[in-house]
Amino acid sequence: MNQRPYNFSAGPATIPVEVLEQAAADMLNWQGSGMGVMEMSHRGKEFISIYEQAEADFRELLAIPMDFEILFMQGGGLGQNAIVPLNLSRGGTVDFVVTGSWSQKSCHEAEKYAAEVNLAASGESSDFTTVPDPASWQLSRGASYLHLCSNETIHGVEFQKLPDLKALGSDAPLVIDFSSHVASRTVDWSRVGLAFAGAQKNLGPAGLTVAVVREDLLGQALLACPSAFNYQIVADHQSMYNTPPTWGIYIAGLTFDWLKRQREGDLTGIAAIEQRNITKAQLLYDTIDQSQFYVNKVAPHYRSRMNIPFFLRDESRNDAFLAGAKERGLLQLKGHKSVGGMRASLYNAMPLEGVQALVAYLQEFERQSA
Ligand code: PMP
Repeated sequence: MNQRPYNFSAGPATIPVEVLEQAAADMLNWQGSGMGVMEMSHRGKEFISIYEQAEADFRELLAIPMDFEILFMQGGGLGQNAIVPLNLSRGGTVDFVVTGSWSQKSCHEAEKYAAEVNLAASGESSDFTTVPDPASWQLSRGASYLHLCSNETIHGVEFQKLPDLKALGSDAPLVIDFSSHVASRTVDWSRVGLAFAGAQKNLGPAGLTVAVVREDLLGQALLACPSAFNYQIVADHQSMYNTPPTWGIYIAGLTFDWLKRQREGDLTGIAAIEQRNITKAQLLYDTIDQSQFYVNKVAPHYRSRMNIPFFLRDESRNDAFLAGAKERGLLQLKGHKSVGGMRASLYNAMPLEGVQALVAYLQEFERQSA
């Protein structure tokens, strides 16, 4: 295959070429079954084998303990914004830490379902360029859970370490929206009650949502919770209470297989991809920081490895920058409309060569503009 352009979209996003090629080869006839995956019954032995392998590989890759259920659902991250309080709020107070647009959206949605929403901390006064010090969070007593977004896709703010709520004096389970950095790094499950992610950044196509739920949090849904979104019911039916997003699960399965094959030195799987993600992000941040022409405003400790917003100091050059990038095969670098500027998303499937090409272009454009 010819060299494809490098696609820096925040999602739906670039997918490993090997995964796309395998999907193309399987399109009409998966493993001699005479059917493509989109045409299979979700209850047939062919699809069940795809599903079971995908689930097992995801558990292995992310070292998810056995007391967590892995649920393959629909409805996206925004669907989970309602599904989480419907399942976990138990008529009580829920705590929120707002560090950008996505946790802010989650917070507003929860207000419809939770008896009370407590804004424990917000980074809004810093224009979402940092995370308020956990020691300053105003946690409520007996909260049903605390929600945060562990990687803010738009503002480029990432938790490098999940908070230890117990140490902060709260017994609430931690809920994380890890949509935009799932499978990019290891997860400390001892700090997590529930994690959810839309697939369309690091796992595969839009339409699949993964929820990882600690077993003791099942079975507490409000009566009004739709059955198809009741974690207990979904878990009891191995994610097949209703028809699951079969194509998404299949592509995620191919992606997990690809992830398992990744190597960096002695590292394999998620450890390898995490190392590569660190290298990629460092290269871009260093280039931005060393230039007088570009700027990233996020506090260094909370800079995202996945989504890197940056600005040209002379914003009148934005259109020229984007046009030149496109000519060089560097696609979808325009920043989110709420923030402006540029954004480079460096998900797992973005090779180091893509970041090197971007960095070379940044330097070239800066020289030309001098
Ligand atoms: N949370 C995060 C962190 C996201 O980046 C996004 C999508 N960009 C969402 C939630 C919303 O996901 P969806 O569009 O699948 O509902």
